[in-house]
Amino acid sequence: MEGVTAVIVGEGEMILASVLDTMEGGGGLDKIPGVYFKTPRGEIISNPLRAWIEDIDTLPFPDYDLWQDIDTYFYFLGQLWLIGSRGCPYQCTNCEELALSAAVPGKRFRKRDPVNYVQEIAYHFDKYKNRGLRMAHPFDPVFPLDREWTRSFCNAYIRAGLSGKLPFSIFSRGDTFYIGSPRKDSFDTERLQWLVEAGCKEIRIGIEAGSERVRNDIHHKHVTNSQLQESFALFRKYGVITIGYNMLGGPTETKAELWQTFRMNRALRPDKPIFFIYQELAHRSEGLMIDHATASAVPLKKKNYRAQQDRATIQFGEPLESAHYSKRWIMAFQSFCYFYFVFKRAFKLLLRQKHRFVINFFRYMYHGYRRGSNMKIVFAYFLSASGDNLFS
Ligand code: SF4
Repeated sequence: MEGVTAVIVGEGEMILASVLDTMEGGGGLDKIPGVYFKTPRGEIISNPLRAWIEDIDTLPFPDYDLWQDIDTYFYFLGQLWLIGSRGCPYQCTNCEELALSAAVPGKRFRKRDPVNYVQEIAYHFDKYKNRGLRMAHPFDPVFPLDREWTRSFCNAYIRAGLSGKLPFSIFSRGDTFYIGSPRKDSFDTERLQWLVEAGCKEIRIGIEAGSERVRNDIHHKHVTNSQLQESFALFRKYGVITIGYNMLGGPTETKAELWQTFRMNRALRPDKPIFFIYQELAHRSEGLMIDHATASAVPLKKKNYRAQQDRATIQFGEPLESAHYSKRWIMAFQSFCYFYFVFKRAFKLLLRQKHRFVINFFRYMYHGYRRGSNMKIVFAYFLSASGDNLFS
């Protein structure tokens, strides 16, 4: 790649520190594990890889003061993304985790001590509570997977005095509250109650597709429709806001199955539904991808990557070729889904907030416009993260 002379493969924290120390001392990159670099003659040298960091509790808390634009970020989103684990124990074929876990030898999925995690959140809350921080967003892909870990986190959150002051939003899966449940194959309501008592206001779930064939046979999620239905109903019952993530146009997905996704969202009623267009990934280190027509693993083809201009957002952009519909059709279908669900949400919020909704809308969009932001994304963030909309 033009202008790139070295890349770090794996986790960067320790490796980057070694790179900087070595460069400061005038040394070469050839002795640093985890670095691939280009020699002055253009030859690419791949150093041996460095294992994943074993104990991620040893890492210091990130210093967000180095982020010069953080106040703008708080203005638009009001939340701080945090991470208490690395990797994911699942192997969904649509997900970058599959390639990441194979990139470096060793066990990629590691968790932090929940008490240490809460200490970090409290530390950031003290620093940013008067600068627009209104919600913590642990970015762990399946936050409540481990029952005891979740209980420890919630207890520590309450003990730290964060509960009631800083709500939080988590990622989960449609089957997570069934795993490790004291009543086999039943939804673990106690785990949900711990989260709600601690201050969990929002749960984000991958619906992915309304068709179980697409969700489970193609994307390997292994989540049933009935698990999704019960989970969304219970989240609503306990007053938790839901974000539902959908992926349109997966390998071999048909028009009828895409309509199933639409109907599934109508039935589940996520407060904030999101519709991505499916993108191919290089799923394995040997460069395989899932073929769109046959759903089998085939060598990665460069032309299947999206055009550069489509990479600006993961929400919008050109879909892949399909035997079942044209690219134009699926993009229109995405617009239709957004039109239907977003306007339904906007109308509901307008009825509830009245003139405050209108004032916030113009103020927020104006800020986005002045900054030259992508206005579709600004609008999406307005409906999901601005003002009262963050918790509605
Ligand atoms: S559960 Fe989520 S993060 Fe984990 S592999 Fe599946 S899609 Fe990726």
